[in-house]
Amino acid sequence: MHELALCQGLLAEVARVATAHRAAAVTRILVAVGPLSGVEAALLDRAFSVARAGTLANEATLEIEAAPIRVHCANCGAESEATVNDLRCAACGDWRVRLLGGDELLLKRVELAVTADDERNAEPAAGAGNGGVAAMSIR
Ligand SMILES: [Zn+2]
Repeated sequence: MHELALCQGLLAEVARVATAHRAAAVTRILVAVGPLSGVEAALLDRAFSVARAGTLANEATLEIEAAPIRVHCANCGAESEATVNDLRCAACGDWRVRLLGGDELLLKRVELAVTADDERNAEPAAGAGNGGVAAMSIR
């Protein structure tokens, strides 16, 4: 299952972030999925509930947002949004476009829970906020 392998890669990246910040748990994961990535959000969500078992993200919620399709036009140089069924330049209608985005699976944000003890021991750069919860974005 394609999505399960993707989830395991995603969770490995999440675990790296969580470990770097000495997080007790991962509370929320936000990913952007492009319509041309071939990833089904529903399948990704189901795979996540399997793949997260036994990891720091065991209790985390996965949020999936749709990334826009963006193209660069070789004719007029414009960058515009396109749709799956129509990848032409929105400015001039030319079909000679290069894909800038829309085929990606991107880890956009990881929210971590940091216990009070861990917070005391963590370096200030960890940026733990109030309530013992640190939120961060990675790109
Ligand atoms: Zn154009």
